[in-house]
Amino acid sequence: MAELLRRRPVLAPGQVWLAGAGPGDPGCLTLDVLAGLTQANALVHDALVSEQVLALAAPGTAMVFAGKRRGKASAQQEEINATLIALARAGRRVLRLKGGDPFVFGRGGEEALALAEAGVPFRVLPGVTAGLAGLAVAGIPVTMRQTNQAVILATGHSAAEAADLDWATLARTGQPIILYMALYRLPQITAALMAGGLPRETPSAIVSAATMPEQRVLISTLGEVADVARRESVAAPAIVAIGAIVALRERLCSLAATVVSP
Ligand code: SAH
Repeated sequence: MAELLRRRPVLAPGQVWLAGAGPGDPGCLTLDVLAGLTQANALVHDALVSEQVLALAAPGTAMVFAGKRRGKASAQQEEINATLIALARAGRRVLRLKGGDPFVFGRGGEEALALAEAGVPFRVLPGVTAGLAGLAVAGIPVTMRQTNQAVILATGHSAAEAADLDWATLARTGQPIILYMALYRLPQITAALMAGGLPRETPSAIVSAATMPEQRVLISTLGEVADVARRESVAAPAIVAIGAIVALRERLCSLAATVVSP
């Protein structure tokens, strides 16, 4: 432990660390991100970074909120890039903190490119992505021998300028699909997956606020999951998992010694 602390990376003035805060529980932070939290004097964070994680910032750190609202992403992204570059050029020790992993549906790639183009020194610190953490805390193995050989991480949010995913092709792989940002379009997505041949009975799970005190896990089927989300007023952030792996939760939970969230 002492050796780890002695060798912790140094966040130098003028540098940006593009880091993942994980799904919410500070227990999911990596040691390097924790080191960043203790050294940063400017912290630029998304809406998805939890209060518990933000509370770990050093006293006096300038906290800059850089969240986005639906439909306004592109213009705001340029402002965020400009903010990061300006803070770095002003000699701040900048921690850019994003929910989950910065390079998984987080626009971290765009920020990394902007920093590189501006000649700002930066490093990328991985985080635990919500899709994987959410399944783990719900007792759903992401892969299991004999059940699946691959897993699909997909976004349910389709940017106006991008063509929608070919859901029928994904359905035909027979591999589990983990959806991010899918609550809004869940009726259309599940209908497209069924039209692509995925059975209505395919086990499905919604995990909202994974790892947080208000976490919920709702198990249903592909045919019902969109109705369940509406009926139960599931709030973002939530991931949706569709596939045979979801059924393993029941087997795990039925064994008395298993400790998984309700
Ligand atoms: N970079 C993030 C994803 C950002 S996209 C990551 O790697 O996790 C935002 C989406 O992530 C949300 O709409 C939701 O689908 C998912 N998400 C983030 N935090 C979550 C949480 N604590 N519980 C469930 N889903 C979460």
